[in-house]
Amino acid sequence: MKNVAALLLLVLYSVPILGQPAKNVPGLSIISQKNLMKTVTFLSSKELGGRLSGSEGYNKAASYMASEFSKLKLKPFGDSAYYQKLNVEYNEIYSPVKLNLIEDGKVTKEYKLGKDFVCRELTGSGHITAPVVFCGYGLSKPEFGYDDYAAVNVKGKIVIVFKSNPSWKMNDTSNWGNGYPRFKAKLAKEHGAVGMLIVSLPNDAKPQTTIISVLEGGGEQDENFPQFHIDIPIADEILAGSGFTLKDLQTKIDSSKQPFVVQTASTIEMEVHSKYTKEKPTMNIVGKLEGSDPELRNEYVVVGAHLDHVGEQAGEIYAPGANDNASGSAAVLEIARAFIKGKIKPKRSIIFVLFASEELGLIGSKYFVDNPPVPLEKITAMINLDCIGYGDSIQVGNGKSSPNLWNVAHHQDSLFTKMMVGATWSGGGADAGPFHDKGIPAAYFVTTNSYTHLHCMTDTPETLNKTLFEEITKLAYLTAFEVVNGGYDREEVLK
Ligand SMILES: [Zn+2]
Repeated sequence: MKNVAALLLLVLYSVPILGQPAKNVPGLSIISQKNLMKTVTFLSSKELGGRLSGSEGYNKAASYMASEFSKLKLKPFGDSAYYQKLNVEYNEIYSPVKLNLIEDGKVTKEYKLGKDFVCRELTGSGHITAPVVFCGYGLSKPEFGYDDYAAVNVKGKIVIVFKSNPSWKMNDTSNWGNGYPRFKAKLAKEHGAVGMLIVSLPNDAKPQTTIISVLEGGGEQDENFPQFHIDIPIADEILAGSGFTLKDLQTKIDSSKQPFVVQTASTIEMEVHSKYTKEKPTMNIVGKLEGSDPELRNEYVVVGAHLDHVGEQAGEIYAPGANDNASGSAAVLEIARAFIKGKIKPKRSIIFVLFASEELGLIGSKYFVDNPPVPLEKITAMINLDCIGYGDSIQVGNGKSSPNLWNVAHHQDSLFTKMMVGATWSGGGADAGPFHDKGIPAAYFVTTNSYTHLHCMTDTPETLNKTLFEEITKLAYLTAFEVVNGGYDREEVLK
């Protein structure tokens, strides 16, 4: 019976009233490219320094968004006005940053930061000149019969290792486990290496270029071990003279499932200076729109996006983060504006939240669900917006785990936006993950083929697909509108 009632309500809310054009959902026309782009342009600007959680730039972004929440008269819903405070690992990279080829004690080639190589955002400091050894995947798993360090002495050397773990297994039970740079750096250092260059896999269908990333993996920070991500052609230049290309080496290891190390003929100078803070204060930004229904107002729909990005290196932004995720943050603000300026009196309450530190490993959204401002069982649904400004069409993820919520989005798309693809996935994803893990239905709004400029210099306001950006924001609004006003109960949405 409940199902029928819910379905009926879905139909009632979704079918446009006779004589009214379908686009007349209250508040919908308030969502505009102009407002979306205004926020994105500011958040991606030089002034905000790439918005790494813990930085001055992030704090400026947070303060700006909190003041926008305040202008809309959202109720402050953090533990200190709009701020929900938390601490994160933080690293600042100063100049000079250098990567040079050395011959006979002289620099023969200077590589360019941001183009040929980038620092891992959590790199340690160092200034070293040392010979380079290629060490495969940089793994030591003697229990599987695989050890990249077994037959080589890397003491006092710089190692080049693949950024990822192998895509193959040694046997049915072997799992390579943690392949994050912090783990690989620790292993390299334990074997005596003095620095590490990571490189993407050249045999991937679309090999990854150098990206700025703060995703370092767990464990203790080594403040004196430099780590750079170098571009594949640079690795080939370092390997020149060894008789192998990087592609040869990956093919050799992958086909034999055996380590293959190469002492290159190159010597490299690496220099970087960083200042690490284990617990740097940062914040989620949280505002509430109170529901109007005496009972349903105690149920909540969370509309969220991560505000942080990957910061700057030596005073330059190499990843402005317009799509990732100034776009989602701007959408949260415009969805709030649509509800408020559209004078919608939602039955359920809505929590608008901008998460800190997604880039370091979903720190802000995990903190939110571990320290929720309302009981988790009262959160009917979560709508996550991440990388929604670049691409071809609309995708709503986590639909296999929250099909009813996905169906709401799909139905709204069939009435309005008509840009949503059928493909979805199971199990959260990014900031939807911590909500999904707590049993909260979550829908992850993203654009298809969104990741071309991910964590790169070209993730700028200019590269965004503004029409798509507006349409996906509207679809997220329509979905939220349905859930806050519709007859769904949580059990229903959970199915
Ligand atoms: Zn990102």
